[in-house]
Amino acid sequence: MSRNRNIQTELPGPKARALIARDAEVISPSYPRDYPFVMSHGRGTQVWDVDGNRFLDFAAGIAVCSTGHAHPQVVQAVKDAADRFLHISSDYWHEQMVGLGERLARVAPMGAPAMSFLCQSGTEAVEAAIKLARYVTGRSRFIGFLGGFHGRTMGSLAFTSSKYTQQKGFFATMPGVTHVPYPNPYRPLFAGADQGKAVLDYIRMLFERSVPPSEVAAILVEPIQGEGGYVVPPDGFLAGLRALCDEHGILLIFDEVQSGIGRTGRMFASQHWGVQPDIMTLAKGLGSGLPIGAMVARKHLISQWKRGAHGNTYGGNPIACAAANATIDLVEGGMMGNAATVGAHFMSKLRDLARDYPCIGEIRGKGLMIGMELIEQDEERTPARKLCDDVITRAYHNGLLLLSCGTSTVRFMPPLNVTREEIDEAVVLLRTSLDEALFEREG
Ligand code: PMP
Repeated sequence: MSRNRNIQTELPGPKARALIARDAEVISPSYPRDYPFVMSHGRGTQVWDVDGNRFLDFAAGIAVCSTGHAHPQVVQAVKDAADRFLHISSDYWHEQMVGLGERLARVAPMGAPAMSFLCQSGTEAVEAAIKLARYVTGRSRFIGFLGGFHGRTMGSLAFTSSKYTQQKGFFATMPGVTHVPYPNPYRPLFAGADQGKAVLDYIRMLFERSVPPSEVAAILVEPIQGEGGYVVPPDGFLAGLRALCDEHGILLIFDEVQSGIGRTGRMFASQHWGVQPDIMTLAKGLGSGLPIGAMVARKHLISQWKRGAHGNTYGGNPIACAAANATIDLVEGGMMGNAATVGAHFMSKLRDLARDYPCIGEIRGKGLMIGMELIEQDEERTPARKLCDDVITRAYHNGLLLLSCGTSTVRFMPPLNVTREEIDEAVVLLRTSLDEALFEREG
């Protein structure tokens, strides 16, 4: 039994074990589940499992529950929309869909008028971006980044390269994607201090020797790499990509599925560097948990799509749009500011922790998108994979839900309205979890 007052039973408890046994008979085993948390309900940053144990949720449904679990304003918006109608299809018009288009056009970081294509997930937003880029440029090649994650359907999967298991067994995906390294100052691949400049030079070399830039429709990049390890690129890198795209008539697509909608303390991560994309993809935090994605593009591009060029059945679903409208209002109305200030507090607490634990190689991120990379204590900064898994498992037993990314990075992505007190509580639980994982390793 845990010493933690939040944990009432041996984990997983009897009800959790029973549900997991039923699941094992009927649900695909492909979902990458790391520990046996079985959700009962949640409020804000707190969640309870079916056996009555309380946890702090610093994974937030993979950065989806941006306004916290069951925010009353989002729940009310969903109820009101559901009372009117559940679905009508994108063949017709309605208030919630247009309202979301207007909000996205207002906040879009293009510095120019923008329009949106609505869908249900991140991967569909990326598919739409790929199709739009091909359609308007008449070009078919793309540049993507090693460590990038953009989804698991055959177009987006062609770019996804954060783990080889995502590709293995599925054979050739969409042709035409060339991967280049993502600049990672903590793990430099190139000689010299400026990894961003080195990657830009590498792309220029590709353009000269193997990938004619006149055939490249777009460069697709995460402004902060998510699944690949919460890697923040060096200053100047995104601006350099923008300049390279402009030079060759290539479109710049920012995938903000994980980093967008207030997560980093700005509405979009790209705004930390003031670089404007041509196309942007959104999902996750956009709907507070309702399945919704959006491809937002400069108006002069997306308006080239003729009637019927791209569509779907559920795009603009009124309930998902109502959740997204309420979410954007809440994020603009204070949660984004909270992500910036509470995120800075969290970052400094984690940096204090890092001083006590040499296995913490780096703390990095922006706002409430923070990674803690764990390493073996050697010159090479060898990723401490097992330690990372053990810390996450111990955290679950101590009442803190976490997920990993990259090779050995613990990531923190709590709801944007997490409080300082919840952060302080999570840091205490994290310290205990680190101690236990290190003790197990040495014992
Ligand atoms: N892009 C990014 C940056 C992501 O992090 C993800 C999901 N982790 C996706 C796309 C795919 O989103 P979905 O799982 O909703 O298809």
